[in-house]
Amino acid sequence: MTTHDDGAPIKDCRGAMTKLFDMLDGELTAEREREVRSHITSCPDCFTHADFEQRFLAALQAARSGGGCPGSLRNKVIEALRAEGLTH
Ligand SMILES: [Zn+2]
Repeated sequence: MTTHDDGAPIKDCRGAMTKLFDMLDGELTAEREREVRSHITSCPDCFTHADFEQRFLAALQAARSGGGCPGSLRNKVIEALRAEGLTH
């Protein structure tokens, strides 16, 4: 999986959420991750969404360590978020 990170600054909630997916995949640099977290902690909307997503992240990590299929789990995360209208 290649990164979607184009290096552009995070300037809105959609950008932050997109980067959040990359962060879940472990594709962001520490600096980028700081940017995403910085937006999330200062934005009530994203904070709620991120909290929601953190629960999936925990499941994702458990599946990874258990030899599951991260790809299909990631899709489930995206589907769940889309159901909440969070993704395009
Ligand atoms: Zn936001």
